[in-house]
Amino acid sequence: MLPVIALVGRPNVGKSTLFNRLTKSRDALVANFEGLTRDRKYGEATYDGRRLLLIDTGGITGEEVGIDEEMAKQSLAAVEEADVVFFLVDARAGLTGVDEVLARHLRTSNKKTYLLVNKVDGVNIDIALADFYALGLEKVCPITASQGHGVRSLMEEVLSGL
Ligand code: GDP
Ligand code: MG
Repeated sequence: MLPVIALVGRPNVGKSTLFNRLTKSRDALVANFEGLTRDRKYGEATYDGRRLLLIDTGGITGEEVGIDEEMAKQSLAAVEEADVVFFLVDARAGLTGVDEVLARHLRTSNKKTYLLVNKVDGVNIDIALADFYALGLEKVCPITASQGHGVRSLMEEVLSGL
């Protein structure tokens, strides 16, 4: 069984962009409109010669009815399947109530969770990170999924812990 990493977070925070970067596939559609990836998507990644399974999810909106409810279920199922969780938030949008709800769930889930503060391009990183420390997660990593900044050191730390 390969180590499994689940990517969770609100829609539009950059989960599929990171999934595509790590899997180098076109499997997960990246789009500007929210909620496009509605199911769990699996992709294999090889990093420093080690194989990993990534799960991309549709995202949690906090208004879980209909399709949103299904997306939330998929996200929570992905967390259950994972050894490591990448919880993405958007540095440009700042901290939201949905981030807080998800953080609470992840803190109690006993999964190794990395809080990935994405889209730090063009923002003051220290200011952007400050808000997100309030989520009470130990591992906080600024990244840009689209440019790949911070991704190598993140993956090195993840792999060293597997
Ligand atoms: P998802 O809904 O969480 O899967 O988010 P997507 O991966 O579809 O990305 C949503 C939008 O954010 C897209 O327009 C991406 O190009 C953009 N995006 C993703 N990563 C970054 C980043 O590091 N910086 C910036 N500025 N935009 C990003
Ligand atoms: Mg997506």
